[in-house]
Amino acid sequence: MFKTIVFDLDGTICHHKASYPKMFFEIFGEQFNKHSDTWLRHMLHNGEHTGLEAVQSCFPEMSPEEQKNALDTFTYRWSEAQVPFTGIFEAMALLKANFGCQIGVMTNGPSQFQWAVMNKLGLSEHVDFAYASGDPFPAECKPSIPLLRKLQSQRNFEADTALFIGDNLEKDIKPAREAGWSALHVAPHDDKTVPLPLSDFTKAAKQDSLLKVNWSSLTA
Ligand SMILES: [Mg+2]
Repeated sequence: MFKTIVFDLDGTICHHKASYPKMFFEIFGEQFNKHSDTWLRHMLHNGEHTGLEAVQSCFPEMSPEEQKNALDTFTYRWSEAQVPFTGIFEAMALLKANFGCQIGVMTNGPSQFQWAVMNKLGLSEHVDFAYASGDPFPAECKPSIPLLRKLQSQRNFEADTALFIGDNLEKDIKPAREAGWSALHVAPHDDKTVPLPLSDFTKAAKQDSLLKVNWSSLTA
């Protein structure tokens, strides 16, 4: 069955309880709208980046130290606003034990932002590998079939033994299927629900419908 399962991060493993524009205003003292074009162009950059580039580009009048401090504050506060979906780490452990697979994470974003979130969640204790698109590896964003091939060679697995789990059809699911992976489109939630046997989970990964899932309902 699956030898490698790769999860998306935002909206799949965790969600946030904060307003991004509000946080931006509290840190920089200016409306997010005024800077959003430049800011997002840097934040969504398809290559290696930390997040500092966005601060430097939007606030060139700040000293390098102020820029660094502002980014540190933003990434820290953003990470503090993240909440894992109930049962996600138990679900990962169950999948790992059942399939004997490696578990990974592939998330889009600047390395400092994404790693602040992943460290806040203690993700490294639960997964075998995790990459932000802004990291030196892979330095590439989803959606991308070449990105998935890079993961395959880096982590030594074949497409037909891999499963991608994500909440975004365009970025997570379509490229995975085109690359010959299995893919499971999920809408995680924390509401009460009936148990989801692993066999039904596996079946869902073979179909192309959206699975509304409470991760804590996954059972062997
Ligand atoms: Mg997502």
